[in-house]
Parts: sequence; structure tokens; C-alpha cells
Amino acid sequence: MKFFARTSCIGLYVVLMLACTSAAMAADWVQVVLSDNGYEQIKKSGSGGEIFTQFGDILIIQSGEVFNDKLIKSEPISTVSVQPGEKLYLITSKDPAILKASFPGTRTIYREMGFIVILADETEAMNLFSKQSDFTKVELLPENQVILTAPVSTGVTRIKTEDDTAKFIKALDMKAFMQDTTALVDFKSRYSYVESAQNSIDHCDKIFSKLGYKTSKQSFKIGSTATNNLIAERKGENEEKYGQVLVVGHLDSTSESPRDNAPGADDNGSGSAGVIALARLLNESDLKPAATVKFVLFMGEEQGLYGSKAYIKELSAAERASIKAVLNLDMISFDAVAPLSIMLETSSFNRPMAEKLQKLALDYADFTIQTSFNAWGSDHAPFLQQKIPAVLTIESEFATNPNYHKTTDLIKIMNQNLCLQILRLNAAALYAYAIKPELNN
Ligand SMILES: [Zn+2]
Repeated sequence: MKFFARTSCIGLYVVLMLACTSAAMAADWVQVVLSDNGYEQIKKSGSGGEIFTQFGDILIIQSGEVFNDKLIKSEPISTVSVQPGEKLYLITSKDPAILKASFPGTRTIYREMGFIVILADETEAMNLFSKQSDFTKVELLPENQVILTAPVSTGVTRIKTEDDTAKFIKALDMKAFMQDTTALVDFKSRYSYVESAQNSIDHCDKIFSKLGYKTSKQSFKIGSTATNNLIAERKGENEEKYGQVLVVGHLDSTSESPRDNAPGADDNGSGSAGVIALARLLNESDLKPAATVKFVLFMGEEQGLYGSKAYIKELSAAERASIKAVLNLDMISFDAVAPLSIMLETSSFNRPMAEKLQKLALDYADFTIQTSFNAWGSDHAPFLQQKIPAVLTIESEFATNPNYHKTTDLIKIMNQNLCLQILRLNAAALYAYAIKPELNN
């Protein structure tokens, strides 16, 4: 007060004028703030003028107004001023090259779990949009949405052990799972274009047949190369009422020398062996599913989701409508940083299934879980595009997995406990959607 008292009226006026002018002239800013329930807080007690997007426990806040720091208790991790002509873009990607890329001229605001938020002008944005593919989605940053939920730790103390679901999933055979994964890696390459990949399909066909499943191959083409999806089916007792449940994963692999050395232990030997593990579990339980269950191994995923697209293309409208749930397993084994963590990925229309799986995770698995509602870049995406309920389960560290699409994607990089926990979740989902769907509410 003393300072102002000694300042002349004109001086004060100039200071205020400058302050007002700079507020009006200054570009908006973007803040990155740590806050695990910031979205809820702002909805409840914000002024309504805030613009924000949530990624896990991070809020990206854009505003020309001063943000009410009573709502968000922690200091911003960073504050970036936005230059005229710049906008925020969101890249959602499963392409390791994009996940590691730098984008010249732009500023990266956030990069985690397959999401990159970038500040770019129009010319730079054109360059970003040119990167779009089946694995990379580019869009203006969605506003006032939860793209990725905050992490929730499930815990061993809460795991149910006595009910029917628990009894069902308890029989998961992890020894057989590791043997299956190792056998897939031993094919050296499951790159869609090579003969060893075809041999790996025949190998899996034999396993499913031995388990008593009716198998079939669906042929399709990747360019001029003919290949197959493998489908193993168990008819439901009441398919008319409970429809079909699909457990899927891509069998093909890739690397920097894909024709002869693409071991793909994590991507996606783990998910493929996981599909087989769930087929083995169902078979050995002697339970008769109410819904028809199809275990599907896709080829051509790494070339652009060819297998899943071909699968959906051949379905009639009635068949599409009969699919009640698709469980996609892709990269379920890498976890370098404790605690064990996974991501569910789906679209917002499929929120009930996402919430069901989150609840099953709390009851039957032990890891930290987050849900993304911005699905892209694996075989669940074509199903979701047709509004078929589908959820991907994936290791949450996929974006920082140094072996992703590399010859170093070997058995030794797998965390078997993560595999077990992810399989427990998917087995509980299989039980809920296919075996006892009448209890599924
Ligand atoms: Zn994959």
C-alpha cells in the first residue's frame, strides 16, 4: 500500500493500462498441472471459463483467464505461452517411430502412454496431419474431456478368491502360456509376408484343434500377398440371446529386419499366447458358455490392421450386432517400472464395458489401471468404428518399450506377472460376457 501511496496517480494509471493492455494483447497460455481429480474439481467449482483436457493425473489447461489455483493445489509443471496462430494438437499413436519423433518447429507439451500434445502453427500442423495412418491419429486437442482416466491401483487385498469367477480364472496355466509364447518366438519371424508366419498359423491351428475347438481360416490379401486369420470357435448354449464374444490378438510380428528376425515376444507373442491361454482355460473348465466364443488370431496387423478389417468386412449386419464384446490382447508383457500397470483402451460409446472391466480388474487383478477413450492403432479400432463393443488391454509402458518392433523383443524382456494379471482380467471378462452373461449387470 505504501508503494502505491507514493506513486503518482498518472504513474499508477500507466501501470494499470500496461497491465490491461498486456493481458488483452498477450497470447493465451497452456499449463500442465498435476491433479488426479482436477477434471471433477473444475466441473464442480470452476468458473465455467476453463478449458482443460485430462490425461491420467495430468491436466492440460488452456485459458486466457487466470486459472483458479484454489481448485488445483499443485504448482504447474510447466506454463507455455501460445503464440498467435498456434493451436494445440493431439497425436494418438502406436507407431514407435512417431512416439519417439521430434516435430521441428513445434513445442511438445505432453508425451505419455501413446499421447503427444503439441503446440503448432498451421504450417506445422499440416506436417503433423501428414503423419496420419492406421497407427497414428492427429486431431485438434479435444477440450473439456477425459482422454485418459487417472491411475487406479487395484490391490491384492481386495482380490476376490472364493466366488465362481475366481475359481474359473485360478486355473490359468501360465506354464503352458510361456511355452506357447516361446514356440511363437521360435518361428524367428511372423512377418505377414513370410512362410514362417504361415507356419505359425498352422501351429496355432493345431493347438486350438487339440483343445477341441472347431477351427477355420479366413483368407485375405495384403497387397498381392495372400494370408489368413485363424478362428477357433465354441458354440454357445444360447447364442440367440447372448450373442458372440470375441477374444482376439494379432499373431504377426515385425522388426527392423522383419523377414528373418522378428521375434515379437511381447508384440504380440504375449497377446497371441494369451488368446490361446483363455481358450485352454475355457476348455479345461468344462463350463459351457452361454454365448458363442470365438478366439481369433489376426495376420497383417502391422501392415495396417488388415486381418481385423477383413474379418469385419465379411460379417453381415446381423452378425455384427450379435457381437457383445471383443477382448483385444496386444502387448501384455512389458513392465520395466514398478508398479505393474496397464491401459484399457476403447471409445466413449463403450463406457459400460470399460467400467465393467475396471470393476473386474479391482476384484480379480493386481495392477495400476487407466482407461483411454481415444482408441487407435490396434485390432479393436475397426470394431469400435462399427460401434461393436471392444476393449484393448495393453501394457501401459508400450510407448517407452525400447524393444517395440525390434529384434530385441525377446522372451527375456517379458514380465510374467504382468501377463498373469492381464490374463486374469480378460478371463474374468470372458466369464462375465460369455459363460454367465445372465449374471452380468
Ligand atoms: Zn501389436
